[in-house]
Amino acid sequence: MENEISTPAIVLNRRLIGEADRLVVLYTPHNGKLKTIAKGAARAKSRRGPLLEPLCELDVLLYRKRENQDFLTLKSISLLDAHSNIKASLPRTAFAMLLCETIECCSPDHNPHPEAYDLLRVSLRRLKSTRNLWGWALSCQLHALALLGLFPRLTECARCGGHAADDPVPLSARNGGIICAACRGNEEFQIMLPRRILDLLTSTSVGEDLPVSVEEGRAVEQFLRTYLEYHLEWKFKSLDFIASIKQTNR
Ligand SMILES: [Zn+2]
Repeated sequence: MENEISTPAIVLNRRLIGEADRLVVLYTPHNGKLKTIAKGAARAKSRRGPLLEPLCELDVLLYRKRENQDFLTLKSISLLDAHSNIKASLPRTAFAMLLCETIECCSPDHNPHPEAYDLLRVSLRRLKSTRNLWGWALSCQLHALALLGLFPRLTECARCGGHAADDPVPLSARNGGIICAACRGNEEFQIMLPRRILDLLTSTSVGEDLPVSVEEGRAVEQFLRTYLEYHLEWKFKSLDFIASIKQTNR
């Protein structure tokens, strides 16, 4: 068994543990999502602390005592890209955090997915300069869900598999996709979406922005949030951050 893992990694998240330590969630191409405890990283004078902030791209050396160990030991770090251009803009930071949070909540620990890692890396690069933040973030988020097996059912009724012809079409978070008139019932987590937007969601290619307005972007995101939170028992923090920023397309 390999005891040392030398790998590129993107910091997805970090949480304070006690007064001075941090639990750091890393995403890696060939080892999936990994967690490590960085001792002292929350201290003001820590040299490691600034490198272990979300979005940082790193080369790390980790140590593990046994297979599927919950927390790996961080032996060394070098910074590849702090994504300072993203962090200089609040809206860009908010959308970058949304992508990191999506990968974090949809990826089980120790479950490698090199394509999802590449998608996140490329998405962050493009997020530095794109003019269509909602369109780019949604496109990346949908492709991440497709890669990680969580893409909602958007071409037939998610409940009965039948044809759902309405326009606007109702989406059900609980059922995980669109629902037909017969199945609609009184479900509480329903969001109406124009069919034009639905068609965009199912036809977008990797690397393409979704041509949606801010309002349309918000409507799609509201569905994805409810759907993911319902099925993964997760609370999206980045979306509250996005909602708090008035002008998000710049
Ligand atoms: Zn149905």
